[in-house]
Amino acid sequence: MNDPLPQGATIGILGGGQLGRMLSVAASRLGLNTHIFEPEANPPAGQVAYKITTASYKDTQALQAFAQSVDVITYEFENIPTSALDILEKISPIRPGRQALAVSQDRLIEKEFLTELGLKVAPHADIKNTKDAASAIASVGTPCILKTRRMGYDGKGQFLLTKASDMTNAWQAMDGRASILEGFIDFSHEVSVIAARASDGQVACYDPGENVHKNGILQSTKVPANLNTSQRTDAVLIAAKILNALDYIGVIGVELFLTADGFIVNEIAPRVHNSGHWTQNGCDICQFEQHIRAIACWPLGDGARHSDIRMENLIGTDIDRVPELRKGNAALHLYGKSDVKLGRKMGHVNFRS
Ligand code: AMP
Repeated sequence: MNDPLPQGATIGILGGGQLGRMLSVAASRLGLNTHIFEPEANPPAGQVAYKITTASYKDTQALQAFAQSVDVITYEFENIPTSALDILEKISPIRPGRQALAVSQDRLIEKEFLTELGLKVAPHADIKNTKDAASAIASVGTPCILKTRRMGYDGKGQFLLTKASDMTNAWQAMDGRASILEGFIDFSHEVSVIAARASDGQVACYDPGENVHKNGILQSTKVPANLNTSQRTDAVLIAAKILNALDYIGVIGVELFLTADGFIVNEIAPRVHNSGHWTQNGCDICQFEQHIRAIACWPLGDGARHSDIRMENLIGTDIDRVPELRKGNAALHLYGKSDVKLGRKMGHVNFRS
């Protein structure tokens, strides 16, 4: 095990969105500083971090200076260019490590990795060209979903196909990007497990949450999820298996579909996750603190759930609900974003029941 980071050490965070912001708040409570690296000016995390670098992921000098100024590097999103990671890792450790990023950056590699672990994934086919598109739909069948292999998030780069002839338009919209076709899973509900692994291999999983998505975007998470005891155990064991296989350090989000045949793993996110925001008001140690503890080589904290929680995202004009929500007992978490845009996550609220 590596030495724990001392008070006053600096954590570098790639990405300055709301996840970077909440990681920064958690780090500062533990006496640690954060330094954000973000190409866009005035990001949400910049308002609460100790330091911010505004530069492109192609700017070698800025990346080197950033890495030299921090004790460890983590990230709030998985689509970090490989060329930037190559520069950074020569100077400072990156946690979670490169394997977790390689697996989660590409939906096909992710599915192959999960299958090798003996976990179930959706039936799928790889599509590189128009010929593959035709054979994929024959093998996967309909309904199905065409997804870009890389850079997709919040339902972006995804097309639902209900009949074989939908493929022509969907594949055209992909504009030649490598894709996979996934069979549509008839799930009863969606669940995610937020789990953590420390540098000494200790694993701690939060209680699984039940998620509702709309147009591919998470709307709400409730805990406890509607699972029986063995399903709850299964979900947690799946997450632990993935963490150990990746020799992982930090918090991970594992999204699962519950079907009549058990769980299918939809995807993994090697970072703190929107469906884990309930932990801020449902546990003594939330996912953000747990992640900082893990990457700082501290022992994990107690993530036992003390309350039933329903987390609702405030998306786009949902932010107009804030004056009303302020009057109630719910815990508000707002991201300091001034521009309201359709589909933009502006904040979230945790209702305790
Ligand atoms: P993803 O970006 O893969 O997490 O997909 C976003 C959301 O789309 C998921 O949370 C599901 O609600 C839905 N979805 C994705 N893939 C499938 C699938 N193979 N079958 C059914 N629903 C899916």
